[in-house]
Amino acid sequence: MIYSRLFILAILSCTACASILLVDSNITYNDRIAAFGPRLLGGVEDGPGLQGNLLPPILEKDRYGCEVIEPPTTEWIAFVERGECSFIDKVRAMQASGALAVVVGDRHFNGWITMYAPGDTSDVRVPSVFVAQHQYQILLMLTDKQHPLRIELLKDDMLTWPLLDMLLVVVLSPAVMMLSIYITWRLRQRQFRKQELAPSDIVTKLPLRTFRREKSIDVDHEECAICLEDYIDEDTLRTLPCRHEFHAGCVDAWLTSHKKFCPICKYDICKRAPGGSNEQTPLLGA
Ligand SMILES: [Zn+2]
Ligand SMILES: [Zn+2]
Repeated sequence: MIYSRLFILAILSCTACASILLVDSNITYNDRIAAFGPRLLGGVEDGPGLQGNLLPPILEKDRYGCEVIEPPTTEWIAFVERGECSFIDKVRAMQASGALAVVVGDRHFNGWITMYAPGDTSDVRVPSVFVAQHQYQILLMLTDKQHPLRIELLKDDMLTWPLLDMLLVVVLSPAVMMLSIYITWRLRQRQFRKQELAPSDIVTKLPLRTFRREKSIDVDHEECAICLEDYIDEDTLRTLPCRHEFHAGCVDAWLTSHKKFCPICKYDICKRAPGGSNEQTPLLGA
């Protein structure tokens, strides 16, 4: 179950997978679409993606994209560095600076994240993507203050919705089947266990007597076979239909929570008392 859940999470997180196409060289680099802002539509099915000129802010101090600046080029896709302010702050600042889209790169770590923003982000009109350290460094080398890099932001076609649906079905069906098998097995176990025990209303209707040594008729059974203690005067004993006697407390617990059979002769105490009737057995009457 845990594995299938992780797999579903992995698939769902990969719906944020997208790519950056370098228009001149036709090379693509992976990126991740942010959880906020408009979706990217480009791809084999959707036609062309969002094209623009990738360029970092001209001044070094603006490289994080936290402040509104003059757009350094036309059809600008802002290329900013992770850090200093939140992702949503960068995207808002770059949107206000005239960027068509925002590419955020990680200078220090090569891990992938999906950029997330709390609260209302309905004001965000430009898409934004994240690139890990490796992609960030390559793209940074390719961009030049005088010559921006022509790129196209694409949605990844590898995982489109029908495929995702299919994967979910393939993963979920066995998981649901396993869960139903497990629930059925547990229910059967419980039912089986219940059948092994005596209902307390049948047990409490079995006759009781108070033990007195001088009146003892059966010298062989002067100890309780469950707790192995000798009976002492005034002990309350429960007599089973098979005539075996035990401490009432001991045998009641045995029959209702362990087994419905006499601990000595394995007599089924429910056998002669269908539906909890309190009829006396021929043995007791003898
Ligand atoms: Zn006992
Ligand atoms: Zn018995």
